[in-house]
Amino acid sequence: MRYRKDLEKMPSYDGSERDYRIKINANECNLRLPPLVEERVMARLSRVALNRYPNYEYESLREQIAQNLSVDADQILIGNGSSEIIEKIFNAFGGSNDNKIVYPQPSFSMYKIYAKAAEAKAIEYELEENYKMKVEKYIKTVKREKANLAVICNPNNPTGNKISLEEIEEIAKEVKKIECALLIDEAYIEFGGETAVELIKRYENVIVARTFSKAYGLAGARVGYMIANREVTKMIEKTYMPYHMNKLSLVTAEIVYQMREEYEPRIEMMIEERKRMSEELKKEKGIKVYESETNFVLIRYEKAEELKKYLEELNIGVRSFGKTARLEKCIRLTMGTPAENEEWLRAIKKYVKEK
Ligand SMILES: *Cc1c(COP(=O)(O)O)cnc(C)c1O
Repeated sequence: MRYRKDLEKMPSYDGSERDYRIKINANECNLRLPPLVEERVMARLSRVALNRYPNYEYESLREQIAQNLSVDADQILIGNGSSEIIEKIFNAFGGSNDNKIVYPQPSFSMYKIYAKAAEAKAIEYELEENYKMKVEKYIKTVKREKANLAVICNPNNPTGNKISLEEIEEIAKEVKKIECALLIDEAYIEFGGETAVELIKRYENVIVARTFSKAYGLAGARVGYMIANREVTKMIEKTYMPYHMNKLSLVTAEIVYQMREEYEPRIEMMIEERKRMSEELKKEKGIKVYESETNFVLIRYEKAEELKKYLEELNIGVRSFGKTARLEKCIRLTMGTPAENEEWLRAIKKYVKEK
């Protein structure tokens, strides 16, 4: 049949999922909602009027996020996960091969797909040794390309490292000179690094994207949001359909947001676990452990693919990257519960010892 041009060539995200006994392959939270939160969510869901289009629920969540971040409600947009937020931002700045979007490599694999889907020209900035970003070089790339949009993932997935707020500000300031928007994807910000939200007041080109999927364990509800200046949100809002968010997810996210203090102990726990696991993994011969400020750790190991298979046989699911450039022989391990972490760590240690 006559599909749109180049659809067949569109890269696809491998979302095939298996239900592992220990699932540490997608940076999800391995705990369900805190009991008190779950109870409130369930009670609230039973009262939702599903016969009506969502309206009030969107505004209500928006206002609460705005209040907490000391911005106005019209500076916030809510999406079906930050995935949709990023997709819409790419759509707003793409649309033609002359419109360029710069993003780091290796980083979140979806940037490439969204750039293609937005029919924008994707420009990949190669991260340096140990996946560090050289700010001057990044700025140079953006300016040389006269990019419409520049993206930073902070802390970066799947490498785990962060870049400082001063460096982000430097980028914001420089790329603003060519009227380039700067998107900072803060999917892991609750685990480390400094947020760029305060830059929005001073730089009209800055956009921050956040999600409920990682630290708040709400990946199944699909809720994310972005913060920017009013002029920016107004334009990006044009790319959304009316009523794009469903009420069930909106009210769930609102309760989670109101009760976010309930999440502090578990976020602390995941940070502690990340530090502990990093130290433990460093003791293993042949394993290189990358610095991380997230809820996961990236390692490099000569026999990564074999190790992944070995873990799979134990029903432990991890993420490897096949032949993806710069991520060969790498495995990403999401922090689970301490008991789960103990178990996969023991399995890795056993494998390394026997090789
Ligand atoms: C997980 C992730 C997202 C998107 O998560 P959503 O579930 O769509 O909110 C965005 N960016 C990065 C870097 C991620 O790792």
